[in-house]
Amino acid sequence: MLPSSSPPPPPPSAPRTLIIGAGLAGLSLSLALSHRGLPHALFDADPSPEHRRQGYSLTLQHGRAAAQLGLELPRIASTRHLVLDAQGGEVASWGRELWGAGGRRSRKAARGHHNFHISRSLLRDELLGARPEGAGPVSWGKRLAGVSAPGPGPVTATFEDGSSATGDVLVAADGVHSFARGSLFPSPPPRPSNVTVSLGIFAPPPAPLPLDFATVVQIADGEGGRLYLQPFDRERYMWQFSHLDGPWSGRREPADILSRTRRLAGRWASGAVGELLSLTPPELVSSYSIVDRDLPRNFRGGGHPRVTFVGDAAHPMTPFKGWGGNAALRDGLELARRIYSRCGAAPLDGGGWEELLKDFEEDMLGKVRGKVERSREAVGKLHGREVLTRSNQTRGSL
Ligand SMILES: Cc1cc2nc3c(=O)[nH]c(=O)nc-3n(C[C@H](O)[C@H](O)[C@H](O)COP(=O)(O)OP(=O)(O)OC[C@H]3O[C@@H](n4cnc5c(N)ncnc54)[C@H](O)[C@@H]3O)c2cc1C
Repeated sequence: MLPSSSPPPPPPSAPRTLIIGAGLAGLSLSLALSHRGLPHALFDADPSPEHRRQGYSLTLQHGRAAAQLGLELPRIASTRHLVLDAQGGEVASWGRELWGAGGRRSRKAARGHHNFHISRSLLRDELLGARPEGAGPVSWGKRLAGVSAPGPGPVTATFEDGSSATGDVLVAADGVHSFARGSLFPSPPPRPSNVTVSLGIFAPPPAPLPLDFATVVQIADGEGGRLYLQPFDRERYMWQFSHLDGPWSGRREPADILSRTRRLAGRWASGAVGELLSLTPPELVSSYSIVDRDLPRNFRGGGHPRVTFVGDAAHPMTPFKGWGGNAALRDGLELARRIYSRCGAAPLDGGGWEELLKDFEEDMLGKVRGKVERSREAVGKLHGREVLTRSNQTRGSL
């Protein structure tokens, strides 16, 4: 699904896709459909793409889906991963720097098969910028308020501002707290992970922690608290503090987030963590309650024949394995491929859509099922004693 300089004109039977949510999954789908000239409309509740600038930094595993979308992303690749205890003592380290140039993993990395860090806002900008003009603008400030799909025919989305749009299929990419999922596919609400993640972005001081843009550092007390530091861009790092103490119900203003993090981790590594917190501008601080869901087999039966879900709306997972964003990009790409592959045929009726979406969903959910489970297990591993195991291997492989 690479960009084509002259995408074929869409066949007359090409369906019109409504995409709700211009996050990673929705933009990936939009971009992939654009590469084949397939008609679609993209809506997002945010008033503008700048609305939530600070965001956080993501780790992309090899960036395969992004490459298949034709994106050439700026890559900040770390070569060393360091685990410290709360006193600042080294517990473990691994990474290309230690594996040496000759190892299998280092050879793969030299060919570009390596993980890298990129801010979610930059990734979103790259996805937005890559959409060709013909794709039409994203409709910002459009919060989905209802979906009406009275029969097997077209589907209409209505928005909080009273406007509406009709298409052949509706793809809900509206994130972890998906309105569409809650109203169109009744299932238990997302499951709290009893962990809150707080984040901040700062320019790192030269010492004492090795924040040299080639090193990822995690510091843990083995008693529920963990601080993870990775590059945000080429000048700043992100700290991500998580604490296993049940959902945090207190006020979540930046000052509250900073003071809670300072209270729980400020003295770690001889006060080095406290220094990072004081270097963090309050406007670059945020926090998220982490949830996931048990996955259904598909979204058929109980849902609508022409509505499906992608990304976090379909399969939210904890961020502790760094997979949710990768999966969201892949979902969009894969769904676009399937829609395109049916374009030469007669227009799909309700039953045809049901079949296409069922196959897509079972493939998508089958691929992420294990990832959702391992991301859930990682909560316990990374916040308990296990994370302090003295062995130079990734914490995920313990
Ligand atoms: C702290 C943290 C760290 C993470 N780290 C990583 C990582 O390292 N690697 C990784 O792969 N993943 C990571 N993730 C997960 C990753 O960010 C998500 O899985 C990914 O962003 C999901 O993309 P999405 O498009 O499904 O949802 P989002 O990116 O959340 O996009 C949803 C969009 O829908 C819009 N929307 C919401 N409601 C409505 C509505 N009613 N109407 C219209 N629009 C609506 C929102 O405005 C938003 O733009 C992390 C997540 C967190 C919280």
